[in-house]
Amino acid sequence: MNRTLTRSLYAAALLAGGALVAQQTSHDLGFKDTPILPGQPWHVHDSDRPHPRVITPGSTPGAPPSDAIVLFDGHDLSKWVQRGRRADRGKLVELKWKVENGYFEIAPHSGDLMTRDYFGDCQLHIEWASPEVVRGNSQARGNSGVYMMSRYEIQVLDSYNNPTYADGSAGAIYGQWPPLVNPVRKPGEWNTYDIVWEAPKFEGQKLTRPAYLTLLFNGVVVQNHKELDGPTLYRAVGSYQPHGDAPILLQDHGYPVRFRNIWIRKIGEYDKP
Ligand code: MG
Repeated sequence: MNRTLTRSLYAAALLAGGALVAQQTSHDLGFKDTPILPGQPWHVHDSDRPHPRVITPGSTPGAPPSDAIVLFDGHDLSKWVQRGRRADRGKLVELKWKVENGYFEIAPHSGDLMTRDYFGDCQLHIEWASPEVVRGNSQARGNSGVYMMSRYEIQVLDSYNNPTYADGSAGAIYGQWPPLVNPVRKPGEWNTYDIVWEAPKFEGQKLTRPAYLTLLFNGVVVQNHKELDGPTLYRAVGSYQPHGDAPILLQDHGYPVRFRNIWIRKIGEYDKP
């Protein structure tokens, strides 16, 4: 369509008070006469390439999109179980963490929380706040953790004016990688973690691909597709042991840390909508 004709059609549409809907041409939907992309079966702009599935994004930043599994929406802990400590370790116990005002709070020394469902590769959104009343120092201040697959800890800590070892501060892959920067909010204020998790892959007893973590902490990249050495440990280097999907675990380290707005998405595969 030449420019003059396009302009006059546009003017006509404006005069008619309606939107101009241009006729789609075959090129709008792609091409089959373009080069093949390296390492892919598709032409550049391939017209046969599957279209992405349509989902509805969250209504506000941080709200769950339509294909998320909501793990906590402010009301109840029905998607979670609690694991006992010491003598009860490994057993499930009565759930003691309390829900109020749209969040839940760790009941110190009652045990960790675990999702009922098991997850592998995923996108996880979680918000947390360390106690407003500041007590203790270093690791003994607002310590908790988000454990991917129950083994790999992303540290939760009151890291506001609270020196500790770098690989133990909020947003660290505990004992392995400190966060790139420290964007933590003040005690009592809400922080967000947006996590992209790639589970380790095993063939039999052999590790074929380690785990990778990307973490946005209050919207800031603090872990950038970082490879994990294995499970996260205190004063030790972990080594991978084969495992399948596993629950997300929230650590009871003895401090009344709060959590809210938790949702998770399975990460899809390209061209498989
Ligand atoms: Mg911790």
